[in-house]
Amino acid sequence: MPRPLVVTIHIAALQHNLSVAARHAGNAKVWAVVKAAAYGHGLRNALRGFATADGLALIEPENAVLLREAGWRGPILLLEGFFDPADLATVVRHDLNPAIHCEAQLRMLELAVRERGISGPLDVHLKLNSGMNRLGFTPEQFRAAYARLRALPCVRGITLMTHLANADAPDNPVLPMARQVACFEQSGSGLDAARTLANSAADLLHPELSADWVRPGIMLYGGSPSAQSAAEFGLEPAMTLRSELIGVQNIGPGDAVGYGSRFVATKPMCIGVVACGYADGYPRQAPDGTPVIVDGVRCALIGRVSMDMLTVDLSPVPQARVGSAVTLWGRGLPIDEVARAAGTIGYELMCAIAPRVHMVDDPQPF
Ligand SMILES: *Cc1c(COP(=O)(O)O)cnc(C)c1O
Repeated sequence: MPRPLVVTIHIAALQHNLSVAARHAGNAKVWAVVKAAAYGHGLRNALRGFATADGLALIEPENAVLLREAGWRGPILLLEGFFDPADLATVVRHDLNPAIHCEAQLRMLELAVRERGISGPLDVHLKLNSGMNRLGFTPEQFRAAYARLRALPCVRGITLMTHLANADAPDNPVLPMARQVACFEQSGSGLDAARTLANSAADLLHPELSADWVRPGIMLYGGSPSAQSAAEFGLEPAMTLRSELIGVQNIGPGDAVGYGSRFVATKPMCIGVVACGYADGYPRQAPDGTPVIVDGVRCALIGRVSMDMLTVDLSPVPQARVGSAVTLWGRGLPIDEVARAAGTIGYELMCAIAPRVHMVDDPQPF
């Protein structure tokens, strides 16, 4: 008998959310971002949900190969490019489109062309650091990098790429979004290349930045990239984490629950024990009051989350018993609400789903 903890992936929601991304993007094509096992949803489920995407984008070269082996023939973008010269053979063999974001990568490519005769054709994304200061060539280096790529006979297409730090809050006083956009426009002006800069937040909130390709991630999974709710954007949750009560305790005033006795009862109450803990990906830092649905009723988490269990106050649902259904997040309880309560973001919760959680797919339309 497996544990009752199950994560359900709603394929129809993935398809729907992709169509929302495409609609916002107008004529731009869509890279569906499937890094980190499709934000915890599983690469195979992503392939079903995003079969109509124009391309798939991810970080892990080995997972790009898995996508090819699973039959994906469309473009694949490696968002951080290759990590060592050996990856370049994989890039060529599987026709992957690597980002080139730094001098070391550019040298690796030039060296591979000179010494190993890599012939391509290779499509690449040239990345600009427009102010986020993670990856990318500086505006001063950008044109020279472009020229060196153009000089390589194996390079076919070049797409100019940058990443926005504050598309969800464009008025950020330290780095306003408009400054990054202007930097990208200036750095690439006159260069013969396609362009991409929009993540989910830009796709939803700034359709004028769609350019040639958008790169939505979180929105495809039904999470919101901004303070606005996913439902307001018309997005559907693609992941529901469900479990059951595996224990019930009746406690009285002065009785405590769980490690550290964080929660102490002030009145007689009934406590439900849920089969789900931080080893499953539930955030350990979730405070008392974090919402949990039991038997369809909103309850409050109380006491510290432990490795395999968490505890809830069953006061609003006196009929609850061992075996009662529990929803941790997903349909009926937005993941962003749980994330906010726990001081994190939906992205982190999705990606943290542990391998031991049984994953099933739900092919039904919603
Ligand atoms: C992860 C990622 C995205 C997608 O971001 P979301 O906020 O999930 O939409 C887009 N572009 C790059 C380069 C990324 O690494």
